[in-house]
Amino acid sequence: MKRVFALPLLLALLLTGCGSPPPAEQPPDAQQTAAAQPVTGTVFAMDTVMDLTIYGGEEQLAAAQTRIKELESKLSVTDENSEVYAVNHNGGGTLSADTADLLGRALELCGRTGGALDVSIYPVVRAWGFTTGEYRVPGEEELEELLAHVDYTQIGFGEEDGQVTLAPGMEMDLGSVAKGYTGDQVISLLREGGVTSALLNLGGNVQALGSKPDGSPWRIAVRNPFGDGYAGILEVDDQAVITSGGYERYFEADGQTYWHIIDPVTGASVRNGLVSVTIVGDSGLVCDGLSTALFVMGLEDAVEFWRAADDFETILIAEGGQIYITEGLEAVFSLPDQASGLEGVTVIRRD
Ligand code: ADP
Ligand code: MG
Repeated sequence: MKRVFALPLLLALLLTGCGSPPPAEQPPDAQQTAAAQPVTGTVFAMDTVMDLTIYGGEEQLAAAQTRIKELESKLSVTDENSEVYAVNHNGGGTLSADTADLLGRALELCGRTGGALDVSIYPVVRAWGFTTGEYRVPGEEELEELLAHVDYTQIGFGEEDGQVTLAPGMEMDLGSVAKGYTGDQVISLLREGGVTSALLNLGGNVQALGSKPDGSPWRIAVRNPFGDGYAGILEVDDQAVITSGGYERYFEADGQTYWHIIDPVTGASVRNGLVSVTIVGDSGLVCDGLSTALFVMGLEDAVEFWRAADDFETILIAEGGQIYITEGLEAVFSLPDQASGLEGVTVIRRD
């Protein structure tokens, strides 16, 4: 192996239009001031930097941070005290309500994507070194052996009692959906606490609660996978905008670039002509899982999958710099003035 990169995820998406400058004159009413000025906080969790912007009080920010830490401590695949770690090391166990809820819905997505998403991929991800940073290219025989233990349909799971059973050699990894699920959980928590406007950037997973306080949409920049700046801006409210990109976590060996998304059929690091997949929809969990899955599928299958679905829109960026957006985004997507490496935009229609 020659060179190793691990890009910080902090800049996975640039946010624009939030953090507007304070008004010249403070309104006289303290409560109004609290609503006009967001509280902001940063949490380091799930191996990434999370920025929270909440139009609410400090107690709501603290509750959100606590919830994120709580979910991380259950879902981490590397933390020896987590539930997922315990299940992987004991071949099963009884899950808490959170982890059971996430696993149940993740398994549904694995089925819906025909196994492009497979939460039992962990032994292969680990062999590539993506969870530890000790990157290497596993040999074909090694991959074949590990793939014998990869098949989400072999995860025994009882939704009622939270009992999970793994076959010998099998391990699960909820890393492809954990941040999206966490975003959904934080948004419900904030909503229950009366917050009507907030923006969460969980390491490039952006989730919006409501619109900006003035009623205008959040402006969310999709990162340019080829360089600095962004590939476009989306105007959204109450939605998740979640990107999986080859540039997020990768390494180079012998002149080849290997990305952290794995094709569950071959065990190979995915390389199919796509460099980034952004999913826009109501559910953070679904968007997160589908961003990984459509990345595995490649352009044609991803478009076909979108045509058959009604719960998301997508932006697909190909190696040559072409940007494909699905028709539901046409009115809310705009290109930056200039961005290196990017070609034109093609709108994909349902028929
Ligand atoms: P990120 O977590 O960087 O935002 P993703 O949501 O796309 O990116 O999740 C990628 C992570 O999911 C990988 O680091 C790996 O742990 C896991 N993973 C990789 N390939 C798959 C796959 N085909 N199915 C399920 N999980 C995967
Ligand atoms: Mg994902």
